[in-house]
Amino acid sequence: MRLQHETSLMAKISGRAEKGIVAERGALNQALLLWVSTSLRDLPWRATRDPWAVLVSEVMLQQTQVNRVEPKYLEFMERWKTPQALADSRFSDLLKFWQGLGYPRRARNLYDAATQIDKFHDGKVPSTIEELLVLPGIGPYTARAVMVFAFEARVGVLDTNVGRLLARWSGHPLQVKEAQQIADELVDPERPWLWNQGLFDLAATRCTKQNPRCGGCPVEKWCSWRGVGGDPSMGSAGVTAKQRRFQDSDRQARGRLLKALTAGPVPISEAAAAMGLVDDQARVSRLITDLQGERLLTIQREVLLLGDLLQ
Ligand code: SF4
Repeated sequence: MRLQHETSLMAKISGRAEKGIVAERGALNQALLLWVSTSLRDLPWRATRDPWAVLVSEVMLQQTQVNRVEPKYLEFMERWKTPQALADSRFSDLLKFWQGLGYPRRARNLYDAATQIDKFHDGKVPSTIEELLVLPGIGPYTARAVMVFAFEARVGVLDTNVGRLLARWSGHPLQVKEAQQIADELVDPERPWLWNQGLFDLAATRCTKQNPRCGGCPVEKWCSWRGVGGDPSMGSAGVTAKQRRFQDSDRQARGRLLKALTAGPVPISEAAAAMGLVDDQARVSRLITDLQGERLLTIQREVLLLGDLLQ
């Protein structure tokens, strides 16, 4: 009985908190945008509204840290300025370039997306969420990010960090649908680009996972949590997922083999050594089959070749 009472009380309090932040959107927008005017990080993809450049940066940022993405993004844009430029290249060249970024499936998807954009969209990145979602590897997050950062659409971009921020503002864990709705409702109608970038930076530099700096936080007034008591973002969908261990993982073994292939073909008989799995032939075979299925390598006459390379 008591639990039921507390649950309904929590729902009422949480409901009030959300209504509060949404109802006070104007003042909240102003406070954050004022902070942003002196605190926005200078990142290369923020200097452009070119939809291709935005798409490339978002794909790279999906699973790689900002400081590792920065030099690779600049190099990529020098080399493949348009979707057509990438579509006209060999996929194996992109895979060689992708070394160091990790998760090479993203390279496959980006290459396939460039090919589709070139073929079906006259070389231009589409400007609707529906069309973007049809492209390989583009999910709701990336589609929304392109819509805001290239086309200034009035939508909220919800990543892990922003999800954490919104849960703390709301005072309770949020499911994805609920978090997306709040993110959309809070967007500054005049400056959606700046608002979303501001949220990213507030979450990344001040409202961090481990050490939020609440004293002097520009939006403290609208925040239900303020660092007191249990963190409401714990248990929020997509916020608390743990990074899988890299050491001895399939990801590490796959990465080793692809790295070896960037230097040249590898006989199947030498794949286990290249992967560091000499005692586990079954795992080697499974990983090679996976990489082949993902079109990251090709097998020809008992030899492994990178991507689309054929002898
Ligand atoms: S007051 Fe603290 S918890 Fe709330 S948004 Fe600011 S830094 Fe994050």
